[in-house]
Order: sequence, then structure tokens, then C-alpha cells
Amino acid sequence: MSTTPISVVVTGACGKVGRHVVRAIAGEEDLRLAAAVDRKRVGQDAGAVAGVSPLGVAVTDSLGAAIDSAKPQVMVDFTTPGAVKDNIRTALRKRVACVVGTTGLTAADLADLGALCREHQTPALVAPNFAIGAVLMMEFAAQAARHFSAAEIIELHHDQKLDAPSGTALRTAEMMRHVEGSLLADESGKPDDRAPRGQAAGGIRIHAVRLPGLVAHQEVIFGGLGQTLTIRHDSISRDSFVPGVLLAVRTVLSLQGLTVGLERIL
Ligand code: NAP
Repeated sequence: MSTTPISVVVTGACGKVGRHVVRAIAGEEDLRLAAAVDRKRVGQDAGAVAGVSPLGVAVTDSLGAAIDSAKPQVMVDFTTPGAVKDNIRTALRKRVACVVGTTGLTAADLADLGALCREHQTPALVAPNFAIGAVLMMEFAAQAARHFSAAEIIELHHDQKLDAPSGTALRTAEMMRHVEGSLLADESGKPDDRAPRGQAAGGIRIHAVRLPGLVAHQEVIFGGLGQTLTIRHDSISRDSFVPGVLLAVRTVLSLQGLTVGLERIL
């Protein structure tokens, strides 16, 4: 029995991750690319930009107009920290559910987003990392935080990344601090006159490395009596984000309000 495909608008469709998302949607029978929005390559076919056969969907630079004419059910956003909030506002006002991969949203932004979801009775899912291995790395780090009282995070990304520290690192620190039974002390605000050593997020230091050749990588290092424990995840290709994004697109319409983290729907 065939069902009507879920129609999707991709914002940031011509970006590094957006092109993978467009390509993936084009290959799924139960999903349909309804519109593609970006600041560049406007007018070109989104499929051709993504390296697959033309899809008959021209890239446009107006999300509002794209939603009005293509009437998508879900927006997938992989844009920039400066653009994502306006995109989410536009989508939610038009009752389009949101799957957000763009990082750089603060706790206050997420609170605003939750209020918007309630106001417009439209769900949104925000995940700082859609790679299943990264989600597991974060969960293992939270688990280890019950047994070690000291830890630091090293996140490593390509040199085009706009935000630092990464959304994944900030979320990992939050999960490590808030897991029940966490031994990690809150050292934020503690004077530290040594040379700069990363940014403290809830007392856990995060070091951000930006180099060409990298994609997205993270190590969480715990230190204890006579031992260290290192938990590491590597996204070696942006394909690593695709299964999580597709799962989110298929799930978001059944959610209520704002959901943060892919682990909530796994
Ligand atoms: P990217 O290659 O720079 O792609 C972003 C695209 O969005 C660019 O084509 C950009 O155009 C376009 N854009 C900017 N403003 C826009 C707007 N208002 N409307 C529509 N399109 C707009 O970046 P990326 O590497 O794909 O990453 C995108 C975001 O996803 C970043 O925040 C990154 O940290 C995040 N990310 C998340 C995950 C995850 O799993 N959650 C994984 C990887 C990356 P211009 O180039 O002209 O600005």
C-alpha cells in the first residue's frame, strides 16, 4: 500500500550537509523534495547541485515564498547560526515542522523556540549531531561521568565551521553534568590564572580545533587515580548525518513541541 510521501523543504540545500540531505531525500520513496532554499546557486536544479539527476526543484532564496507555493510539511535546516532562527520562525508561523541541524543555538534560543512551537502548535526537533555514533559517544560520556570527577572535551572540525565550541561539545558537557549521579564538579566561575585552556561549559573545559582535512570529531577524556578514559567519535564523511536526519523527518510530525537531541527519538 503506497502512502503519500512527506514533503520536505531543505534550507541550506546547496551547503556541505544540505547537498547530502537533498541527495538522500531524492533516494527515498516515502519522502519528496518540495523546495530547496539557499543564498547561492539560486535558479539551479537542487538535484543537479547535489550531484544526482535533476529533480525539477529550482533553488530559491525565499523560504516564505517557497513554503507558500510548495506547501511542505517539514523543513530541514542546515544553514548558519545567523540564519537559522529566522528560518525556524518563518517555518513555524506557517505550521511547517522543523528538523534543525544548524548549531549555535543558545539555551535562550531553544527556550524561545519551544514557546514558538507551543504558540503555533507545530513540532520541532533540534539535534546538535545527527550521527548515531556521536549520540552514543555523548551517552557513554554521560555514563562515565558517574565514575570520574574530572573530564575535558576536545572537539575537532573543518576550518569553515562558524561556531565554537561545537553544539555537540556543549550538549555533551550538559549531558555529563546533568546525568543522575554525575561526579563532575561545577567549576564555572572558579578563578584560573593559567594560560587559556579552552572554554569552560558548566565546569567542563572544551578545546576547539579547526583545521582543513577534518570533518567532525570529538574526544571526551576522563582523568582518575592512575588512569584516563578516552571516548572518541569521528564523522569521516557527511553521510554519517543522513540516517539520523531521515529518521527525524519521518518522526517529527508525530512529536509535540520542541525536542532536543536525536537520542530522544532513537
Ligand atoms: P555550509 O556548507 O556553509 O552550508 C550552509 C548553507 O546555507 C550555505 O550554502 C549558505 O550559503 C546557506 N545559507 C546561509 N544563510 C542562509 C539562509 N538565510 N537561507 C538559506 N540558506 C542559507 O555549512 P555546513 O557545513 O553544511 O553546516 C551547516 C550547519 O550545520 C552548521 O551550523 C554546522 O555546524 C551544522 N552541522 C550540524 C550537524 C548535525 O549533525 N547537527 C552536522 C554537520 C554540520 P552561503 O555559503 O552563501 O552563506
